[in-house]
Amino acid sequence: MESAVSTVFEAVDLRKDYENGRIQALRGANFRIEAGEFVAVIGRSGSGKSTLLQMLGALDRPSGGLLRYRGQPVPEGRKAAAYRACDIGFIFQSFHLLPTFTALENVQIPMFEGRLGARDRRARAVKLLEAVGLGHRLDHLPSQLSGGERQRVAVARSLANGPGVLLADEPTGNLDSENAREVLDLIVRVQAEQGMTLILVTHDPEIAARAGRTLVMGDGVVRERQPEGVL
Ligand code: ADP
Repeated sequence: MESAVSTVFEAVDLRKDYENGRIQALRGANFRIEAGEFVAVIGRSGSGKSTLLQMLGALDRPSGGLLRYRGQPVPEGRKAAAYRACDIGFIFQSFHLLPTFTALENVQIPMFEGRLGARDRRARAVKLLEAVGLGHRLDHLPSQLSGGERQRVAVARSLANGPGVLLADEPTGNLDSENAREVLDLIVRVQAEQGMTLILVTHDPEIAARAGRTLVMGDGVVRERQPEGVL
């Protein structure tokens, strides 16, 4: 049965220290994120937003507290690689494409964690690139693409293994306003169409306004921002 939780992430007293505890990026964060939500994460620079995404994506390990993904601890060690590749799609501010690989190859890279053969991998990557409007840029290197196109390749790559969760860290931070709007529209459309859970770090209030919920980070904890107009 699908009682297996609509809660995607649950954090209880989540802590993350750096430099032997000298820096406390998370000091006891508590929150829940439900399946299919679009959650914006805002807060000043240095408030722990990227750290939080790294914990959610198993890119780094918490120092303390609990962090559950669909009712189980977020995997660590060898299992974390499969989790990162198959359950989570990542979109970063600086795209993180491999410079010597074409768009088509970049999109296929996460698929090596999956079971598809070479022909199916290629076909899926073509479909994903077409879906983000880049069917005519398959064999281009990142250096031959505009910033907006690079980020659209990164969006296609984030969907490579059909993850349920998208983690986006300032995904439009390196784009001009027109490309930023297009890339954001694309991410929001993909999230809605596929019923994904989207957690998006931004400093832009207009972007946050499009989310269903906003979490505000400060002093290493997470607060829920009340919707406008709530008494
Ligand atoms: P934000 O994304 O909100 O700007 P970060 O999560 O990047 O915040 O950083 C939170 C705090 O943790 C900051 O004080 C930052 O300097 C520190 N920090 C982040 N990553 C590291 C790291 N790898 N080593 C040491 N300190 C770090």
